[in-house]
Order: sequence, then structure tokens, then C-alpha cells
Amino acid sequence: MEKYETNSDEETRRLAKSLSKNIQSGVIALTGDLGAGKTTFVQGFAAGLGIKEKIISPTFVLIRQHDIPKTGKTLFHIDLYRLENISDIKNLGLEEVLSENQNIVLIEWAEKINDLLSKNTIKIHIEKLTEDKRLITVS
Ligand code: ADP
Ligand code: MG
Repeated sequence: MEKYETNSDEETRRLAKSLSKNIQSGVIALTGDLGAGKTTFVQGFAAGLGIKEKIISPTFVLIRQHDIPKTGKTLFHIDLYRLENISDIKNLGLEEVLSENQNIVLIEWAEKINDLLSKNTIKIHIEKLTEDKRLITVS
């Protein structure tokens, strides 16, 4: 388990960018309250992979995908904030996405689908300490 403290959104992006260099594929479960910095983290992570598209929270569509340059891989960005029932997961094709171990899948509000996550899932919890300070735990 590693813990990091960041003091600005830019620092959180920088941390995510550096973590992205060590993660080639798999599922990353992001947890933390609204406004903790989950989307900010995804922005930094995507930038680290060379993705130039703007990363906005897929709150209404629940899932967005971005090509990762020079890899042939895809980054899936999922936001389950508005997920109401587990049957929506099937409609979204989420189970299929989760089994795609070639790609990178970042999931905001991942605690909603804890039961579907494999043991290999990288867990990132962001805790808001003050207005600008965050405690980021990777396990
Ligand atoms: P979430 O997706 O968890 O709801 P967002 O990433 O959308 O959160 O929003 C985080 C908010 O907190 C942004 O307005 C960002 O500028 C602000 N912020 C302040 N300090 C930090 C920090 N250290 N890390 C991440 N975000 C921060
Ligand atoms: Mg968000």
C-alpha cells in the first residue's frame, strides 16, 4: 500500500501521470467522495498515456473510451455515480469491459460494483483532507 499527499489538482494529475507509466493494463477502481478528485486523477492518467482528448466525467453516459496512442489499446473511463441498479451493468456491457485485460479501465465510484471486481484490481482511494489537500492511497 502506498500513500501520497497532494496539495493541488495539478499535483494529483502529476501523480496520476507518473503512476500511468507503471500500469500497462487492467482495472483501476477509484473511490472517494464527490469532489475528491477522481476525474482529476483520470485526466492526469490519460495525459500520461499520451491521450490528447479532453477527459470529462462520463456522468450521464457512464462510459467513455479513448484510444491510447501507439499501443492499439483503449482506455475506458467509467463513472458509476448515476448507476441505480445492477442490471444496468449488463446493459452497459460493463462485464465485457471488465474482462478486457489488454486495456485500461478506470472506474469512478467503483465501490458500487465491488462484487464484480477481480482481486487484481488496483484500488485508489482519494480522501479530501482540506480544500486543496488530498490523501491518495494506492493498494
Ligand atoms: P470527483 O471526480 O472525485 O467528483 P473532481 O476531480 O471532478 O472530483 O473534482 C475535484 C475538485 O477538487 C476539482 O475542482 C479540483 O480542482 C479540486 N481540487 C483541489 N485540490 C485538489 C487536489 N489536491 N487533488 C485533486 N483535486 C483537487
Ligand atoms: Mg468525477
